[in-house]
Amino acid sequence: MTSAGVTAETARGFARCPACGLITYTRRLVRTGRVCPECGAHGRLSAPERLAQLLDEGSATALPADDPVRDPLAFTDSRAYPDRLALARRATGLTEAVVCARGTIGGQPVTVAVMDFGFLGGSLGTVVGDRITRAAEAALAERTPLIIVTASGGARMQEGVFSLMQMAKVSHAVAALDDAGLLTVSIITEPTFGGVAASFATCTDVLIAEPGARMGFAGPRVIEQTVRERLPEGFQTAGFLLEHGMIDMVVPRGELRLVLCRLLAVTRPSVFAEVADMVIRDPATLPEVDAWDVVRAARDPARPTTLDYATALLDGFVELHGDRLAGDCPAIVGGVGVLLGRPVLLLGHQKGHDTRELVRRRFGMASPEGYRKSSRLLRLAAKLELPVVTLVDTPGAYPGIAAEQRGQALAIAEIIKQLCSLPVPVVSVVTGEGGSGGALALAVADRVLCRESGFYSVISPEGCSAILWKDAAAAPQAARALRLGARHLLASSVVDGVVPEPSDPAAAMAAVGDAVAVTLAALDHTDRRELVANRRARFRRF
Ligand SMILES: [Zn+2]
Repeated sequence: MTSAGVTAETARGFARCPACGLITYTRRLVRTGRVCPECGAHGRLSAPERLAQLLDEGSATALPADDPVRDPLAFTDSRAYPDRLALARRATGLTEAVVCARGTIGGQPVTVAVMDFGFLGGSLGTVVGDRITRAAEAALAERTPLIIVTASGGARMQEGVFSLMQMAKVSHAVAALDDAGLLTVSIITEPTFGGVAASFATCTDVLIAEPGARMGFAGPRVIEQTVRERLPEGFQTAGFLLEHGMIDMVVPRGELRLVLCRLLAVTRPSVFAEVADMVIRDPATLPEVDAWDVVRAARDPARPTTLDYATALLDGFVELHGDRLAGDCPAIVGGVGVLLGRPVLLLGHQKGHDTRELVRRRFGMASPEGYRKSSRLLRLAAKLELPVVTLVDTPGAYPGIAAEQRGQALAIAEIIKQLCSLPVPVVSVVTGEGGSGGALALAVADRVLCRESGFYSVISPEGCSAILWKDAAAAPQAARALRLGARHLLASSVVDGVVPEPSDPAAAMAAVGDAVAVTLAALDHTDRRELVANRRARFRRF
């Protein structure tokens, strides 16, 4: 997969895939972006090749870069450091291990820094740190998103402690983009380790890894030699990182531009399209429905899930994964997309339509990782000033030993308090079951809506009947005693409106989208302090 492996045979115009052994025309490999047409292995790209692939044709302008030789330690191992730099320059045609440019992706302006592993292993010298810092400063000055493509073995030992300081220097420049509300994206390529992994590769808003790319703090050899542990299959690869909640997604090279276009689209300021306000606000206009019928309807596995809503209602939805701590909860999904013209963050419990999916999604019962992922995405929404839509459909938070060990109660408490101060509009829709604290965690909103057949409850009817009737079979009576249903929720102002539910499923989903857009549009221009004060007042009255 190394460029060395490929270039060895380029003289004859052929290259051999180090992963599957396929021998192919080098010209064909260049066309596929060095992705093996047989096995999909992603070969290494030079920084200029990467820039050409990522940016719109002809849009790239290199950022000004001086190319001093800095040798602060007068370092020599088997070769003097300046000689080593000179060799790297000659071998790569580059002056350092990163190339920075401004340009466009799908017509949208960006600033890009691309590391090149071929130049001294992409090591983080002072010039590399300088260039990336200046790219971030250019992004700040021109108010564009920043995209960093990483490939690095870590620090540059020849520059000693000055190399270490680059981690902090670049991080400061990225933090300034956070303060300015500008999107930052890392594209993690094979390999990304050490000080690069522990700073700008992972302190950005969205982390995308290429298939097969490995990232970590300590490299596998260091781990094996230091602690003498055998490493599991796939250790530190993109799939491992996704499973452990560290990155948002794994994106094949051929789809990178599309995903970036969609992410960049959510940074464009815009307003909701005008739609008719069909939200029901008078409980008297709602029919009396038996509470147990409501419960059964709300639990119907044929009902749309959050991902169904995301696909149907949002243009260019990009799902974001992971709590950046330990895992990715399948029972809560979230991401960004454009709802009726306005970019939003969507979060919601995720069930499924069949047993396999329901089991995989734990019936929509979220783990602490799910609430922590939600917290992370809410911080992103606040930074990018995206209104938030949450869809509630859960029997409750996941009750399990592992969930308790990782602080289920703390994760729920954290997100509830976070929502109390979130400086962007939040609208919640109870689309199915709203079960206890696990539901409320996503429903501390400026406006709470409910679908006609949704319900919201302190406990499941089964749980209530088991405790108070000493008999789970008394669930229907319990449901009636708890007065479950939209009519009671609206009459008691627990919800602010009810979304009408036409029998056609597509129309019912569209009604949710319209109700959310109408509600958010009314809040979108409220002063942020007033917004938070009103949200507090809303819950103060209970
Ligand atoms: Zn191959």
